[in-house]
Amino acid sequence: MTAPTQTKPSLTVQLCAPRGFCAGVDRAIQIVELALEKYGKPVYVRHEIVHNKFVVDGLKAKGAIFVEELDEIPADDHERPVIFSAHGVPKSVPEDARTRNMFYLDATCPLVSKVHKEAEIHDRRDREILLIGHEGHPEVIGTMGQLPAGTVSLIETEDDARTFEPKSDRQLAFITQTTLSVDDTAGIVEILRQRFPDIVAPHKEDICYATTNRQEAVKAVAPLVDAMIVVGAPNSSNSQRLREVAERAGCKTSQLIQRASDIDWSAFEGISSLGLTAGASAPETLVEEIISAFSERYEVTVETVRTAEETIAFNLPRELRDMAMPSETAAE
Ligand code: SF4
Repeated sequence: MTAPTQTKPSLTVQLCAPRGFCAGVDRAIQIVELALEKYGKPVYVRHEIVHNKFVVDGLKAKGAIFVEELDEIPADDHERPVIFSAHGVPKSVPEDARTRNMFYLDATCPLVSKVHKEAEIHDRRDREILLIGHEGHPEVIGTMGQLPAGTVSLIETEDDARTFEPKSDRQLAFITQTTLSVDDTAGIVEILRQRFPDIVAPHKEDICYATTNRQEAVKAVAPLVDAMIVVGAPNSSNSQRLREVAERAGCKTSQLIQRASDIDWSAFEGISSLGLTAGASAPETLVEEIISAFSERYEVTVETVRTAEETIAFNLPRELRDMAMPSETAAE
């Protein structure tokens, strides 16, 4: 007698597009790789270059050494390059590097630098500045650190927006972290505008194109699927926001997962459709790993749901431009 063949249940994976690496992350990783190629090992990186352990481990294996602060770099290695992460750094960090005669390369995403410039302009125009963002995130520390301590007030929630009291009678202006929830931020801005009708807003949205596009794709997919997986790290702001967006868009099971080995299979029992996306710092290979893990248990069909095209790319720092292929030296 032949044994009955076990058929796997069917699962449709709706793959969000765009997902994964954005232009700023791509550029930051390239800066570390090209610096290793040009200057040899070791190259120091201040803070995780992007919030993804897989990426960081890969760069460590190639000869990058990650530190949280410049004083962790041994004095003998001060001539080695040190790279600042994509999240940006307070002004004191490059100042400190110059004082120590260090050679640094700045991998701050140009869209974060744009927010830094806005803060400076508001300050020069004598405006009181509010930053909408999450306390403790390196981007927020970097943006607040463009100006002397106490200059920028942090607004994290709608409650903060309701209770904020200006420190002066100067005109108010707000800027935001680049990786926030578009909808949450709109709610906070609405309250600020009602309370302070003259508040100056960014000319062009501070929440970046990559954050916005990834959230839009999740909003399109999440209501149609039984469960949603966001591939990304717990300390990745834009990945956390994608998980929240999925939940709010009506998807009951929505999990942030770093690797296939983290999947809690009990949460995905009995599903017939799965939405899948990745935060801006998560490489595509991890998305493929998740699909393979599901393919072992399900008969998987993958469908892509694309809500935007992305063609943006950023210039490399001057010091590394000679290392890039012509197609990699795109305009900012
Ligand atoms: Fe730049 Fe946006 Fe990517 Fe952050 S998420 S690195 S701001 S493009």
